Amino acid sequence: RTSWLGRLRQGLARTGSSIAQVFTGTQIDDALYEELEAALLMADAGVKATEFLLEDLKRRVKEAKATEPAAVKGLLADAVTDLLQPLQRPLEVGRHHPTVMMVVGVNGAGKTTSIGKLTRHLAEHDAKVLLAAADTFRAAAREQLQVWAGRNQVEIVSQEGGDPAAVSFDAVTAGKARGTDVVIADTAGRLPTQLHLMEELKKIKRVIAKADESAPHEVLLVVDGNTGQNALAQVKAFDDALGLTGLIVTKLDGTAKGGVLAAIARERPIPVYFIGVGEKLEDLQTFDAREFAQALLG
Ligand code: GDP
Repeated sequence: RTSWLGRLRQGLARTGSSIAQVFTGTQIDDALYEELEAALLMADAGVKATEFLLEDLKRRVKEAKATEPAAVKGLLADAVTDLLQPLQRPLEVGRHHPTVMMVVGVNGAGKTTSIGKLTRHLAEHDAKVLLAAADTFRAAAREQLQVWAGRNQVEIVSQEGGDPAAVSFDAVTAGKARGTDVVIADTAGRLPTQLHLMEELKKIKRVIAKADESAPHEVLLVVDGNTGQNALAQVKAFDDALGLTGLIVTKLDGTAKGGVLAAIARERPIPVYFIGVGEKLEDLQTFDAREFAQALLG
């Protein structure tokens, strides 16, 4: 765990350094809070979470009767941890057989890579996984998923130029027949222009429910943490359309916008099952609110 945590720290240090800078003075005064406000906004925490954190922090400072900026930094770590805590929830896969996950997100967010890492994670926990290549529009997406299936030695349902909903249906049906533990459907992140992405994804969701009325059990959005407030906008849009059950926030190994998790916690608190901290297989980690808060504050 240490190496990836180091990478997260290093990545977030770009944010952290400007936040840490705030506490190098000798006084707790208005200037300190103003600098902190600017640093949080720079980190893409957004106006709502920033205002909330400042108010919460002032209350904590008063309560603790803190007199040193260094003590305020510790209290800020507590405030950020408490804000992020509701996002810290484990992904559970034992309840349904198979557990059906539909994974959505715009192209380039790290969807396919994250599915590959997630598959590895599940396989390591002895789960039998079946992948569904439901992005039938892009040949490259299908091929990439095929590569991940090969690497993890799991089965894949794929059909060149097929209907994404039909591929998903077949995968769930096959999963039920074969005693699969987890079915993961990779979906398109962009469509040929005349089609509407959200409508397509809603259709996949509906058709999955026809194969198994309790499914999909998870609708996971993969967002690029490096896009800051844009990531929040995506969370809202996909949640409005599909009802998300969880998030995977990628590319936190090199971003100055890690504060966006505070914005998500404040405005659309959907569990962050995993964070991506690099391109390698092991670079998918469970989210820990305190670790993240400490890494964020440098
Ligand atoms: P998709 O279009 O959403 O399926 O995105 P991909 O899975 O193809 O990922 C797009 C790019 O982002 C690839 O070059 C990945 O290696 C890279 N990537 C994905 N996750 C991470 C991450 O957590 N950190 C870093 N640094 N790169 C990542």
